[in-house]
Amino acid sequence: MRSPEELSALFKAQGLKVTPQRQCIFRVLHGNDAHPTAESVFAAAVAEMPGIALKTVYQTLHDLAEMGEIAVLDLGTGATRFDPNVGSRHHHLVCRRCGKVRDLHVDFGSLSVPEADRQGFSVGSPEIVFRGLCGQCAHTPATVPATLSTATDRSSVTDRSSVTDRSSVTDRSAKE
Ligand SMILES: [Zn+2]
Ligand SMILES: [Zn+2]
Repeated sequence: MRSPEELSALFKAQGLKVTPQRQCIFRVLHGNDAHPTAESVFAAAVAEMPGIALKTVYQTLHDLAEMGEIAVLDLGTGATRFDPNVGSRHHHLVCRRCGKVRDLHVDFGSLSVPEADRQGFSVGSPEIVFRGLCGQCAHTPATVPATLSTATDRSSVTDRSSVTDRSSVTDRSAKE
């Protein structure tokens, strides 16, 4: 993703509005390697600019994605994640308990699908997701947010005691 200043110029050049709210969202995203959800971008933006609307966050994320400035990822964590790191091809580490996502810069060589196995698909480059437990979760007892209970690996989904954090964000967005 370009710098907030460059993005402002780019938005203007494309006839898109550049408001202080949008610039705030650019700042939240710039250099953000947490692969935030729309809700967490909103939470960070609202801390800086209390009047900002969730709708503005969604619209700005949408515009940035259209322009190829951020990637939209579904990593099976229960919410769409946004990745400002579009400059270098990379893979992801995903914590199956807390949903933490980290960039993984490892070259796995030339993975490809043999012609005979493509079933009519034209296949792009592989994106690899490694699921496991982040350092923090590996050292704490299992408390899995209910929102993650639909993730592919359900083996340790037993406890719903850590949902408070997410539900407060959901409440706020529901009022928009
Ligand atoms: Zn974790
Ligand atoms: Zn990434």
